[in-house]
Amino acid sequence: MTVSASVFLRQLRSLRKQRMNAPVRVRARGTRRSLSRVERASILTKTGSRCHLCGGSIRPGESWQADHVLANSAGGAHSADNYLPTHALCNNYRWDYLPEEFQLILKLGVWARTAIERDAKFGRELANRFAKHEAHRQSRLRRASV
Ligand SMILES: [Zn+2]
Repeated sequence: MTVSASVFLRQLRSLRKQRMNAPVRVRARGTRRSLSRVERASILTKTGSRCHLCGGSIRPGESWQADHVLANSAGGAHSADNYLPTHALCNNYRWDYLPEEFQLILKLGVWARTAIERDAKFGRELANRFAKHEAHRQSRLRRASV
């Protein structure tokens, strides 16, 4: 359990270092190929057309990604059996964080949300910084897609 800011910071840095320094894992054999329409439909059915990360619905025609359940870098195959559907945004934020690292990020996000909702001085500051960050990110995305 985290007991101080410095312990929390060390924990985050340590997890990042573990992830960055992990030995090169053996990738599963085979190359990634496009999934067939039938395979994609089968993958979407596994979760009842919901993103396996956030639980939100994936509407008909909406773009979604087939996410490896066991990462290819950890030996997971590029096969329909090893995929679950995700929103692109959820999959991009999930990235390749270690499970413990991702759980800390979720806890931090929920805590930040509560701080913002309570609208205390710190919560307002956090909301302002996040809004600036999001505006910058959105403008970068728009420039990249031109
Ligand atoms: Zn999602």
